[in-house]
Amino acid sequence: MSNQLSDRINSVTPSATLEMAAKARELRAAGKDIIGLSLGEPDFKVPDYIREAAIQAVNDGYNSYTPVDGYGELKTAIITKFKRDNGLDYAPSQIVVSTGAKQALYNVAQVCLNKGDEVILPCPYWVSYSDIVKLADGVPVEVPTSIDTDFKMTPEQLEAAITPNTKMLWYSSPCNPSGSIYSKEELRALADVLQKHPQIIVVSDEIYEHINYGVTAHASMASFEDMYNRTVTVNGVAKAFAMTGWRIGFIGAPSYIARACNKLQGQVTSGANCIAQRAVITALEESPTRVQYMVDEFKERRKLILSLLNGIEGFKCNEPEGAFYVFPDVSAFFGKTFNGVTVNNASDFAMYLLEHANVATVTGDAFGNPKGIRISYAAAEKEIREAVERIKSVL
Ligand SMILES: *Cc1c(COP(=O)(O)O)cnc(C)c1O
Repeated sequence: MSNQLSDRINSVTPSATLEMAAKARELRAAGKDIIGLSLGEPDFKVPDYIREAAIQAVNDGYNSYTPVDGYGELKTAIITKFKRDNGLDYAPSQIVVSTGAKQALYNVAQVCLNKGDEVILPCPYWVSYSDIVKLADGVPVEVPTSIDTDFKMTPEQLEAAITPNTKMLWYSSPCNPSGSIYSKEELRALADVLQKHPQIIVVSDEIYEHINYGVTAHASMASFEDMYNRTVTVNGVAKAFAMTGWRIGFIGAPSYIARACNKLQGQVTSGANCIAQRAVITALEESPTRVQYMVDEFKERRKLILSLLNGIEGFKCNEPEGAFYVFPDVSAFFGKTFNGVTVNNASDFAMYLLEHANVATVTGDAFGNPKGIRISYAAAEKEIREAVERIKSVL
């Protein structure tokens, strides 16, 4: 029988980061000693006070369906967080809690896009944006940036990418995979371009907000008065609180978008997990300074991995200002042969590192940039040292 699946699912590319992690697990099961630097996952424990809040919630008997858009107390904590950290004023009707920031992004695409609507994605972008857009019948419009401009889109590039069909602009800052951060001035310059195109909605993915190494202060597009009514601010607890598996993300948005996300979610997943939501109330109510120790540790690892990678000829590294990835340009290796394997592109390169150096990374193609690979340094120092040593030895 031929493939009876929908065109929709047949058009989706599997998540490259999850796929690489699965491949690494497979090789590990076959007895290989693989160092995994492919997943964007902090290697820290969830802080005690958050774990205790979850245990308390279990013992307090939280076990029922939750309100579709999140517990009222959690929305209050999110509103306080947006005000405290970002200077943003949201009402409860503008907040929706979802099963991870990923679902929040998926909801927004589903409720905002019609067939053929274009979504501008500065490259490199987070791995799932392009497929989330396609699943909503939208058309991703990639805007290439380069390491020489710190992987940031200029106002001129934005202007040039806009057509009458442009409906949205999506970006993450701090950026996964590049670690670049748009300053307030840079965001203002992009907003000035958007002023001429009032139909464009912005999705500002700020999930790495707190993982910032102190060079460029975090800024939110919605903090500009003229952008507030057409910006969706996405955030979550997976990265800053090391809570990837707890699956809680959220948006602050214009009410009509929040209402639509609520309606969609009510027919898809219902409200997010009750225990995780209770724990996140505590995570957000406490000061972000309580998780600063993780950021400090990531900063040390960043320094280490940059100095090690810069010791390998052919690696051209940017200096990430946030998140926990480096995105080196490795195009100097393309066309060369190592151990009988010719490396023609970033995918070949990542595969070569996996099979010959036993180090898992992710090809830049998955992020819309064919010259780079993403290396996560959310790993122990010993692993980082060993991984770069191995990479060096096979090149
Ligand atoms: C990890 C990540 C997400 C998804 O977060 P979850 O809350 O785990 O779903 C969204 N955007 C970016 C840029 C990420 O790196």
